[in-house]
Amino acid sequence: MKRHLVCLTFDFDAMSGFIARGMMSATPVSRGEFGADVATPRILELLKKYRILSSWYIPGHTLETYPDRCKEVYDAGHEIGHHGWSHVPPALLSRQEEEEGLIRANEQIKKLTGRYARGYRSPAWDLSPHSVELLLKHGFIYDSSMMGNDFTPYRVRQGDSITLDKPAVFGKSTRLIEMPVSWTLDDHPHFEFIRTKEWILPGLMNANLVLDDWINDFNYMKKKLNWGVIIYTFHPYVIGRGGRMSILEKLIKKLKDSGAVFTTVEAAASEYDKKHPFKG
Ligand SMILES: [Zn+2]
Repeated sequence: MKRHLVCLTFDFDAMSGFIARGMMSATPVSRGEFGADVATPRILELLKKYRILSSWYIPGHTLETYPDRCKEVYDAGHEIGHHGWSHVPPALLSRQEEEEGLIRANEQIKKLTGRYARGYRSPAWDLSPHSVELLLKHGFIYDSSMMGNDFTPYRVRQGDSITLDKPAVFGKSTRLIEMPVSWTLDDHPHFEFIRTKEWILPGLMNANLVLDDWINDFNYMKKKLNWGVIIYTFHPYVIGRGGRMSILEKLIKKLKDSGAVFTTVEAAASEYDKKHPFKG
């Protein structure tokens, strides 16, 4: 039987992403506030309207700054995944800093949900050489930070040797499941304008054109695969602003009409695990 899963995922960064980039003045902080105070309630209302359960990756910074808002997300039945403590990508942290952040945010997740997170998504999608080992050590079932497939999960390798002047040597597969993502299916680079002294993220694309791309990807999966999962990544402060909310609603309607099955990433990972048990 054909089955095409759709995971709507929300990286609830609030202002943590700006802080991690050194942007701590009132305006960038207010962009994060918008995500927590205005956009998240809108998104929760929309998901409730369509009875969709989604996955929320929440940095420890947001969990500790907005405990009540995070509780609303959890109480609505959504999955709470791990997204670091600060929003600094693990690739820029020492092993000790990475593990401390992993533990600190996980304690907040346990406080909120009664259990440690099963799923992890690295801030800004950049794992360190220690991430896989640490995720396995701390009981994670899946990661959602890599791009090695588009619609089919896979097992994460450990111990690759990647150097500038030699061919890549690949390590062994582990039981950690990769739930792959893509910048094309992420609202942030399409829409968000950010300017610093050193760089500019232009963003501000026409949302209708982006919607077309997002639907085309689902249609391709439906045509080519009997079983597949497509993971869309949103940020409340990006997708929750004004007219973009109607693009999110159009996406939901269109995919529903095309036979999509909406589920959390944890549930999709567990389906994959049953279909392809880890052999070691
Ligand atoms: Zn994030």
